[in-house]
Amino acid sequence: MLEKDYLILCGVFCRFYKPFREQPRKCFGFDILKELIETKKIEFNNILEISIENFRNMNNELLGEIVCIPCPFRIEGCDFRDNAVKGKHPCGGYAILDILLESGRLHHNDLRKPL
Ligand code: SF4
Repeated sequence: MLEKDYLILCGVFCRFYKPFREQPRKCFGFDILKELIETKKIEFNNILEISIENFRNMNNELLGEIVCIPCPFRIEGCDFRDNAVKGKHPCGGYAILDILLESGRLHHNDLRKPL
């Protein structure tokens, strides 16, 4: 798959995605999802079947550590990670990973291995 194919996930799931930027910037959740698909731990089409409405942030500690700490958007300031901001939403990559973990389609160990 090409990089632009993976960007379909951003268009479908991420409210912050700006498709008209010449080089769209990606969160670290995107990089992890791409790696998980390439190593066949999850199927691209299975991700497209999930509903973002099912996001409950049930893996906040794990994803905060593995996904958000290295994420370039957190370093610059991510509202979701800024406890002072109310009514916040995560990026699509974070939400997808949380839903996949919660539904059992992804195991915690798959995230803990070095990517
Ligand atoms: S929620 Fe914020 S810090 Fe965490 S992966 Fe998404 S953009 Fe990055």
